[in-house]
Amino acid sequence: MVLTYDDALDVHLDNAIPVLDSLGLKATFYITANASKGRMYDWKRVAQNGHELGNHTLYHPCLGGEGREWVIPENDLRNYNTQEIVREIEMTELYLRALDGKSSRTFAYTCGDTETSEGSFIPEIKDKFTALRGVDSQLNHIETMDFTDIKCYGLDGHSAEEMIQWAEKAREENALLVILFHGVGGGHSLNVSLENHRKFLEYLKTNEADYWVTTMEEAAQHCKDQKP
Ligand SMILES: [Zn+2]
Repeated sequence: MVLTYDDALDVHLDNAIPVLDSLGLKATFYITANASKGRMYDWKRVAQNGHELGNHTLYHPCLGGEGREWVIPENDLRNYNTQEIVREIEMTELYLRALDGKSSRTFAYTCGDTETSEGSFIPEIKDKFTALRGVDSQLNHIETMDFTDIKCYGLDGHSAEEMIQWAEKAREENALLVILFHGVGGGHSLNVSLENHRKFLEYLKTNEADYWVTTMEEAAQHCKDQKP
Protein backbone atom coordinates (compact mmCIF):
# COMPACT_ATOMS: atom_id res chain seq x y z
CA MET A 1 0.00 0.00 0.00
CA VAL A 2 1.31 3.40 -0.94
CA LEU A 3 -0.14 6.73 0.14
CA THR A 4 0.74 9.49 -2.34
CA TYR A 5 0.12 13.21 -1.97
CA ASP A 6 0.43 15.40 -5.07
CA ASP A 7 1.46 19.00 -5.78
CA ALA A 8 3.46 19.97 -2.65
CA LEU A 9 0.45 21.55 -0.94
CA ASP A 10 0.83 23.35 2.40
CA VAL A 11 -1.96 21.16 3.81
CA HIS A 12 0.30 18.14 3.36
CA LEU A 13 2.87 19.71 5.67
CA ASP A 14 0.29 21.10 8.07
CA ASN A 15 -2.46 18.46 8.07
CA ALA A 16 -1.26 15.17 6.62
CA ILE A 17 2.30 14.76 7.88
CA PRO A 18 1.48 15.26 11.58
CA VAL A 19 -1.02 12.38 11.34
CA LEU A 20 1.35 10.17 9.34
CA ASP A 21 4.21 10.83 11.74
CA SER A 22 2.09 10.27 14.84
CA LEU A 23 1.23 6.80 13.47
CA GLY A 24 4.71 6.05 12.14
CA LEU A 25 3.48 5.72 8.53
CA LYS A 26 5.65 6.66 5.53
CA ALA A 27 4.28 8.21 2.35
CA THR A 28 5.33 9.63 -1.02
CA PHE A 29 4.90 13.33 -1.75
CA TYR A 30 4.94 14.21 -5.45
CA ILE A 31 6.65 17.57 -5.43
CA THR A 32 6.09 20.29 -8.00
CA ALA A 33 9.28 22.24 -7.34
CA ASN A 34 7.81 25.66 -8.04
CA ALA A 35 4.93 25.02 -5.62
CA SER A 36 7.26 23.80 -2.88
CA LYS A 37 9.84 26.57 -2.92
CA GLY A 38 8.28 28.72 -0.17
CA ARG A 39 8.67 25.86 2.29
CA MET A 40 11.57 23.93 0.85
CA TYR A 41 13.24 23.43 4.22
CA ASP A 42 10.03 21.95 5.60
CA TRP A 43 10.09 19.51 2.68
CA LYS A 44 13.71 18.72 3.42
CA ARG A 45 12.71 17.73 6.95
CA VAL A 46 9.94 15.55 5.53
CA ALA A 47 12.55 13.65 3.52
CA GLN A 48 14.86 13.37 6.54
CA ASN A 49 11.93 11.79 8.35
CA GLY A 50 11.76 8.87 5.92
CA HIS A 51 9.09 10.03 3.48
CA GLU A 52 9.78 10.04 -0.26
CA LEU A 53 9.93 13.24 -2.28
CA GLY A 54 8.74 12.17 -5.74
CA ASN A 55 9.25 14.12 -8.97
CA HIS A 56 6.15 16.02 -10.18
CA THR A 57 7.94 18.50 -12.50
CA LEU A 58 8.95 22.12 -12.01
CA TYR A 59 5.76 23.93 -13.06
CA HIS A 60 3.11 21.21 -13.31
CA PRO A 61 2.39 21.48 -17.05
CA CYS A 62 -0.77 19.71 -18.30
CA LEU A 63 -2.64 19.42 -21.57
CA GLY A 64 -4.93 22.44 -21.93
CA GLY A 65 -8.13 22.62 -23.91
CA GLU A 66 -11.76 21.99 -23.12
CA GLY A 67 -12.38 21.50 -19.42
CA ARG A 68 -8.78 22.52 -18.72
CA GLU A 69 -9.26 26.28 -18.98
CA TRP A 70 -7.14 26.74 -15.84
CA VAL A 71 -3.99 25.64 -17.72
CA ILE A 72 -2.12 28.83 -18.66
CA PRO A 73 -0.37 28.86 -22.08
CA GLU A 74 3.12 28.67 -20.50
CA ASN A 75 2.08 25.46 -18.72
CA ASP A 76 0.19 23.89 -21.62
CA LEU A 77 1.83 20.62 -22.67
CA ARG A 78 0.41 21.18 -26.15
CA ASN A 79 2.91 24.06 -26.37
CA TYR A 80 5.82 21.92 -25.13
CA ASN A 81 8.12 19.69 -27.12
CA THR A 82 9.68 16.57 -25.66
CA GLN A 83 13.00 18.25 -24.88
CA GLU A 84 11.23 20.97 -22.88
CA ILE A 85 9.40 18.57 -20.57
CA VAL A 86 12.46 16.34 -20.19
CA ARG A 87 14.72 19.19 -19.08
CA GLU A 88 12.01 20.43 -16.69
CA ILE A 89 11.88 16.99 -15.11
CA GLU A 90 15.69 16.83 -14.94
CA MET A 91 15.91 20.18 -13.13
CA THR A 92 13.26 19.02 -10.67
CA GLU A 93 15.40 15.95 -10.10
CA LEU A 94 18.39 18.12 -9.27
CA TYR A 95 16.29 20.23 -6.86
CA LEU A 96 14.95 17.15 -5.07
CA ARG A 97 18.39 15.61 -4.90
CA ALA A 98 19.64 18.76 -3.19
CA LEU A 99 16.89 18.33 -0.60
CA ASP A 100 17.12 14.60 0.10
CA GLY A 101 20.44 13.37 -1.33
CA LYS A 102 18.67 10.49 -3.09
CA SER A 103 19.67 9.32 -6.55
CA SER A 104 16.68 7.03 -7.01
CA ARG A 105 13.02 8.04 -6.86
CA THR A 106 9.62 7.79 -8.57
CA PHE A 107 7.66 10.16 -10.81
CA ALA A 108 3.98 11.09 -11.16
CA TYR A 109 2.59 12.37 -14.47
CA THR A 110 1.03 15.81 -14.01
CA CYS A 111 -2.75 15.48 -14.52
CA GLY A 112 -1.88 11.96 -15.70
CA ASP A 113 -0.73 13.49 -19.01
CA THR A 114 2.05 11.80 -20.97
CA GLU A 115 2.22 13.77 -24.24
CA THR A 116 3.50 17.02 -25.69
CA SER A 117 3.03 18.42 -29.21
CA GLU A 118 5.52 15.73 -30.27
CA GLY A 119 3.64 12.79 -28.77
CA SER A 120 4.48 10.57 -25.81
CA PHE A 121 7.47 11.54 -23.68
CA ILE A 122 7.37 8.30 -21.66
CA PRO A 123 10.28 6.69 -23.61
CA GLU A 124 12.51 9.67 -22.76
CA ILE A 125 11.95 9.56 -18.99
CA LYS A 126 10.98 6.01 -18.05
CA ASP A 127 14.53 4.85 -17.33
CA LYS A 128 15.20 7.79 -15.00
CA PHE A 129 12.73 6.49 -12.37
CA THR A 130 12.01 3.34 -10.39
CA ALA A 131 8.33 3.75 -11.27
CA LEU A 132 5.98 6.30 -12.84
CA ARG A 133 2.50 6.78 -11.42
CA GLY A 134 -0.53 7.45 -13.61
CA VAL A 135 -4.11 8.14 -12.56
CA ASP A 136 -6.15 5.07 -13.63
CA SER A 137 -8.35 3.79 -10.81
CA GLN A 138 -7.24 0.18 -10.53
CA LEU A 139 -5.23 -2.09 -8.28
CA ASN A 140 -1.73 -3.20 -9.38
CA HIS A 141 -1.18 -6.94 -9.64
CA ILE A 142 2.37 -8.15 -9.76
CA GLU A 143 1.92 -10.27 -12.90
CA THR A 144 0.62 -7.37 -14.98
CA MET A 145 2.23 -4.41 -13.23
CA ASP A 146 3.36 -1.64 -15.59
CA PHE A 147 6.10 0.37 -13.90
CA THR A 148 5.59 3.20 -16.41
CA ASP A 149 1.91 3.46 -15.45
CA ILE A 150 1.26 2.57 -11.82
CA LYS A 151 -2.48 2.70 -11.20
CA CYS A 152 -3.97 4.64 -8.31
CA TYR A 153 -7.25 5.65 -6.73
CA GLY A 154 -7.66 9.42 -6.62
CA LEU A 155 -9.64 10.87 -3.77
CA ASP A 156 -12.39 13.43 -4.12
CA GLY A 157 -14.80 13.57 -1.21
CA HIS A 158 -14.45 9.86 -0.44
CA SER A 159 -15.19 8.43 2.98
CA ALA A 160 -12.82 6.40 5.13
CA GLU A 161 -15.13 3.41 4.60
CA GLU A 162 -14.64 3.57 0.82
CA MET A 163 -10.85 3.70 1.24
CA ILE A 164 -11.01 0.75 3.64
CA GLN A 165 -12.97 -1.24 1.03
CA TRP A 166 -10.20 -0.61 -1.53
CA ALA A 167 -7.61 -1.72 1.02
CA GLU A 168 -9.51 -4.91 1.82
CA LYS A 169 -9.88 -5.74 -1.87
CA ALA A 170 -6.12 -5.21 -2.35
CA ARG A 171 -5.40 -7.49 0.59
CA GLU A 172 -7.71 -10.22 -0.78
CA GLU A 173 -6.09 -10.01 -4.22
CA ASN A 174 -2.56 -9.58 -2.89
CA ALA A 175 -2.33 -6.42 -4.98
CA LEU A 176 -0.61 -3.09 -4.58
CA LEU A 177 -3.06 -0.29 -3.75
CA VAL A 178 -1.87 3.26 -4.40
CA ILE A 179 -3.95 6.15 -3.13
CA LEU A 180 -3.69 9.70 -4.47
CA PHE A 181 -4.49 12.60 -2.18
CA HIS A 182 -4.63 16.26 -3.15
CA GLY A 183 -6.41 18.39 -0.55
CA VAL A 184 -6.47 17.09 3.03
CA GLY A 185 -8.86 19.23 5.07
CA GLY A 186 -8.90 21.77 2.21
CA GLY A 187 -6.16 23.27 0.07
CA HIS A 188 -7.43 21.85 -3.25
CA SER A 189 -10.72 21.32 -5.10
CA LEU A 190 -10.09 17.55 -4.92
CA ASN A 191 -10.31 17.03 -1.20
CA VAL A 192 -10.70 14.55 1.60
CA SER A 193 -11.83 15.65 5.04
CA LEU A 194 -9.43 15.64 7.98
CA GLU A 195 -11.65 13.14 9.73
CA ASN A 196 -11.77 10.64 6.84
CA HIS A 197 -8.04 10.99 6.27
CA ARG A 198 -7.28 10.31 9.92
CA LYS A 199 -9.77 7.45 10.17
CA PHE A 200 -8.26 5.67 7.20
CA LEU A 201 -4.70 6.08 8.45
CA GLU A 202 -5.72 4.86 11.89
CA TYR A 203 -7.31 1.81 10.25
CA LEU A 204 -3.99 1.07 8.51
CA LYS A 205 -2.11 1.40 11.79
CA THR A 206 -4.58 -0.82 13.65
CA ASN A 207 -4.26 -3.44 10.92
CA GLU A 208 -0.54 -3.08 10.39
CA ALA A 209 -0.07 -6.85 10.47
CA ASP A 210 -2.14 -7.02 7.26
CA TYR A 211 -0.77 -4.05 5.33
CA TRP A 212 2.70 -2.94 4.40
CA VAL A 213 2.47 0.82 4.05
CA THR A 214 5.58 2.26 2.43
CA THR A 215 6.87 4.74 -0.13
CA MET A 216 6.36 4.32 -3.87
CA GLU A 217 10.12 3.87 -4.27
CA GLU A 218 10.24 1.00 -1.75
CA ALA A 219 7.08 -0.65 -3.05
CA ALA A 220 8.25 -0.49 -6.66
CA GLN A 221 11.70 -1.86 -5.79
CA HIS A 222 10.05 -4.70 -3.90
CA CYS A 223 7.64 -5.50 -6.77
CA LYS A 224 10.50 -5.47 -9.27
CA ASP A 225 12.35 -7.99 -7.11
CA GLN A 226 9.24 -10.20 -6.92
CA LYS A 227 8.11 -9.92 -10.52
CA PRO A 228 8.37 -13.27 -12.33
ZN1 LIG B 1 -0.43 17.19 -9.83
